[in-house]
Amino acid sequence: MKKYIIIILVLFTMGFSLSEKRMVEITFNELTQLQQLVDMGIDLDHHRTHTEVHAFVSDEEFQLISQMNFGIREIPNEAKLYFEALKQNTMGSRNPMEDYHNYIELTAFLQDIADNYPDITRLESIGQSVQGRELWVIEISDNPGVNEIEPEFKYVANMHGDETVGRELSLYLIEWLVEGYGSDPRATDIINNTDVFIMPTMNPDGFESGSRYNANGTDLNRDFPDQFSDPNNTTIGREPETRAVMDWTWDHHFVLSANMHTGALVANYPYDGPSSGVYSACPDDDLFIHISLAYADAHPNMESGGFSNGITNGAQWYAISGGMQDWNYIWEGDFDITIEQNEVKWPSSNQLAGLWEDHREPMLVYLEEVHDGVRGIVIDADSGEPLS
Ligand code: ZN
Repeated sequence: MKKYIIIILVLFTMGFSLSEKRMVEITFNELTQLQQLVDMGIDLDHHRTHTEVHAFVSDEEFQLISQMNFGIREIPNEAKLYFEALKQNTMGSRNPMEDYHNYIELTAFLQDIADNYPDITRLESIGQSVQGRELWVIEISDNPGVNEIEPEFKYVANMHGDETVGRELSLYLIEWLVEGYGSDPRATDIINNTDVFIMPTMNPDGFESGSRYNANGTDLNRDFPDQFSDPNNTTIGREPETRAVMDWTWDHHFVLSANMHTGALVANYPYDGPSSGVYSACPDDDLFIHISLAYADAHPNMESGGFSNGITNGAQWYAISGGMQDWNYIWEGDFDITIEQNEVKWPSSNQLAGLWEDHREPMLVYLEEVHDGVRGIVIDADSGEPLS
């Protein structure tokens, strides 16, 4: 009997957290008020100006905020609406290059690449989502599966299930790289000298349900260890998708990476906390500005997104806790930034070709930044063996 009650409670909690949150616009007079929302644990979305921010709130949070010194109103969740329309019209069809790839199509796409380019790719699942979908990562290298003396780079997309541009651009990038190998000097050079890893979706369950969250209702970009609020570099108590990415990262020595989002147009760099609206420089601030500008400058109009030069410090924009980029930098020595690729989260699929035109060069330039710096081998003075 007890078991049934627990199961019912679990189901109730899941349904509750998933269905309760509404998308809202919160307005304020002073940017410093944003910190009040952060302190309340409000799930802020990427859109923010100097007077308003979008967020996901429960009924209770809605009430609380409306009694404070804020304006609040519910707004349509456009990504969700587009998802519903897409599902009606295209999700079941086999028309992958014209429309978004659903999980089955994405899996088939990656398997095709791995079958057709076995010498330069290696497809692996680094774990499973809450609902049992594989978390695919494709490695692109002249010697896939071999730990060469080359820098390791990673792109991770779609950790917010309803932010879909990076998911598709990842697939286009994979295709561009492997098709150009041996004929396009730039693609060949990247593959010969870099160990590239691309994860098109970290949240396949969220995509399939048109949701930002994973199937347990968790925001994966709030689920990582955090230097201020959760300084425990352990997978214990984290979501399966988060654990998979942490374990995978521990198996490698990534030195540069980015995670791709939508909802704004800007390159966002660490730190992401502690206080909203306050610049929070990490010791490598100059380098982060350099690599963020590398992306933004290569984009035709990233500076039009409302941020100076198309880049921003994370906390200065809005603080978050448990984000992936700070974890990569602080604990793994991996320079990671968060790239917001489009103001509309889930644009119509007929815009994908144009978005690829705009972001192809930035994605390549950013990847090539991994070769901009010093590299070499550190050996043990006694044995002459390389150190790990
Ligand atoms: Zn996002």
